[in-house]
Amino acid sequence: MKNKIALVTGGVGGIGTGVCIALAKQGYFVIANYVVPGSEAAWQAKMQQAGFSHDDCDIAFADVSDFNASGKMVADIESTIGPIDVLINCAGITRDVSLRKMTPEQWHAVINTNLSSVFNVTRHVIDGMCDRGFGRIVNISSVNATKGAFGQTNYAAAKAGILGFTKSLALEVAKKGVTVNAVSPGFIDTDMTAAVREDLRQQTLAAIPTGRAGTPDDVANAVLFLVSEESGYVTGTNMAVNGGVHVYQ
Ligand code: NAD
Repeated sequence: MKNKIALVTGGVGGIGTGVCIALAKQGYFVIANYVVPGSEAAWQAKMQQAGFSHDDCDIAFADVSDFNASGKMVADIESTIGPIDVLINCAGITRDVSLRKMTPEQWHAVINTNLSSVFNVTRHVIDGMCDRGFGRIVNISSVNATKGAFGQTNYAAAKAGILGFTKSLALEVAKKGVTVNAVSPGFIDTDMTAAVREDLRQQTLAAIPTGRAGTPDDVANAVLFLVSEESGYVTGTNMAVNGGVHVYQ
């Protein structure tokens, strides 16, 4: 059987790499999108360590906050590797600062990278998925989309925007065999959270009912369910992976 092809934006980051490894273990051919030149080698080493070679995975450069660059990446992948069956929109950044000090640059950087990127890449894969009658899209949102967070008006707005996008697109493509879901991680140990001040980190950890930070594997396991063939009746949902720190739905 031909392997399904999965594209993970921000795929060389902490959660992205965890998702890439989990998908590769399930037999997907995985492509990690990256934007920082030089970040390929560390990702390739991690994939190799997990037992995967160039036969199982590849890497694709693009700034996904740019619509045309995203389109070129998708076209290149589809012409050289094959049609994208699974898309994980995982690229993200933070520019935390209270609104009263936030610059337009900090606002737009976070909206463009975290929210517009989801449109930019999805727009280029959705027709193919619908035409082929199968597709799985998982958008990585955040607990702070629904909870809010001091200093994150830009980030929370972008991540809440992802939830509206997810629900609406899910309705548009439901009849085509394409599902669209979100995963909202809580506090996950990655480079993004390594930047959090130590006293705030301890305060955050103390408030998590499961008593620990999440791992990229915790997020990857939720993604694996949502991309499986068996999850075809699950669409437009938002799966919380937050150790119980914010209980909703
Ligand atoms: P990370 O910083 O390790 O990974 C993010 C990746 O996105 C990086 O590799 C970065 O280079 C890439 N990226 C940034 N801008 C890009 C662009 N314009 N084009 C392409 N790639 C770009 O962080 P992470 O913790 O692995 O976060 C992954 C996703 O999970 C993000 O969307 C983040 O908002 C979300 N998230 C993380 C946490 C957490 O606690 N770590 C919690 C909730 C949500």
